[in-house]
Amino acid sequence: MVNTEFAVIGGSYAGLSAALQLARARRDVTVVDAGLRRNRFVDEAGGASHGFLSRDGMAPGGIAAEARRQLLRYSTVRWLDGLAEDASQREDGRFGFRVGEERVEAARLVLATGVRDELPPVSGLAERWGRSIFHCPYCHGYELEAGPIGIIAASEMAHHHAVMLSDWGTPTLFLNETYLPSDDELAAFARRGTQVEAARIVRIEGVADVILADGRTLPMNGLFTQPRTHIASPIAVQLGCKVTQGPMGAFIQVDAMQQTSVSNVFACGDAARGAGNLAMAVADGAMAGVAAHRSTML
Ligand SMILES: Cc1cc2nc3c(=O)[nH]c(=O)nc-3n(C[C@H](O)[C@H](O)[C@H](O)COP(=O)(O)OP(=O)(O)OC[C@H]3O[C@@H](n4cnc5c(N)ncnc54)[C@H](O)[C@@H]3O)c2cc1C
Repeated sequence: MVNTEFAVIGGSYAGLSAALQLARARRDVTVVDAGLRRNRFVDEAGGASHGFLSRDGMAPGGIAAEARRQLLRYSTVRWLDGLAEDASQREDGRFGFRVGEERVEAARLVLATGVRDELPPVSGLAERWGRSIFHCPYCHGYELEAGPIGIIAASEMAHHHAVMLSDWGTPTLFLNETYLPSDDELAAFARRGTQVEAARIVRIEGVADVILADGRTLPMNGLFTQPRTHIASPIAVQLGCKVTQGPMGAFIQVDAMQQTSVSNVFACGDAARGAGNLAMAVADGAMAGVAAHRSTML
C-alpha cells in the first residue's frame, strides 16, 4: 500500500511538470506512468520533436527521459511504472486506485493521462504515423521542405489543414469520400492554393505516396490528417470529473487553475485541453502542480 499526499497519474510532459512543482515545494508526490506517450511513434521512427523552446529537434523520448531524471533527484518523489486503474473517492475525501497489485491512496490527484489518437482507416496510414504522417503542421510541417503535402480528410476538420498548409508547401486535400466542402470552403482553398482530389484513397505507399482508386499515384513529401482523440484513461470519468466535447474529441473540463469539477482533482496536458503540444502540456502541468499545492492551504 502506497500512502501519498499527491498522486500524479501520467508521467510524461504534463505530469512531470506538475510533479516538479510539488517536489520543489518539498511535498510527497507519487508519479504513476504506463509509458505510452502520445508521440512515441516519432521515437520509433527515429524522428524529432519540434516547437518546444530550447528542445527543438530533440527526440521526444529524450526530452521526457531528461525531465524524469531531473525530477527523481528530489527525495520526496516516488515513481511507479504501471497503469493506474479503478479510481474512487473514499468517504473521508481521499482518493484510491490500483497499480497492478499495489493499492495507492492520495489526498490530491493530478490527472495527466494524455489522449489516444483514433486514426482514419486508410491502408498504410497507421504504420507511417509519426514518421511521414502527422496531425500538427507546427510540429512537423517545416521539415517537409516546402514541397507537396497531402491532407487526408477524416472529417470536416480537414478544412483547417486545407487553408493552413500552403504556408508549409503545396497542399492537396484528399477528400477520400469523407468530407464534402461547401462552395465557400472550396473558394477559400483556391485562394490558399490548395488542390482538391475527390478520388478515393486505396492506400499509402513508400514515404507518402497516395494511391488513388482511379489508378493514379500522387507522391507527397508528407501527409496530415485529423485523428479523433480519446482521453487515454477512464479514471477522470470514474471519479465523476466533467468532460467537454471538443471538435477533435472529449477532454477533461478544468478551470484556469487546472482544477476539475471534482474538488482536489486537477488535470493537465492533452487530456485537459482541446488540442495541445509539449509546451502547452508543460505549462498546464506547472499550473496544476502549483494549484494542487496551494489547495492544501485553503
Ligand atoms: C505523431 C505525433 C507527433 C507529435 N509531435 C509533436 C512535436 O513535434 N512537438 C510538440 O510539441 N508536440 C507534438 N505532439 C503532441 C505531443 O505528443 C502531446 O501534446 C504531448 O505528448 C502531451 O503531453 P501529455 O503529458 O499531456 O500526454 P502524453 O505525452 O501522451 O503522456 C501521457 C502519459 O500518461 C500515461 N497514462 C495514461 N493513462 C494512465 C494511467 N491510467 N495510469 C498510468 N499512466 C497513464 C501514458 O502512458 C503516458 O505516458 C505530437 C503528437 C503526435 C501524435
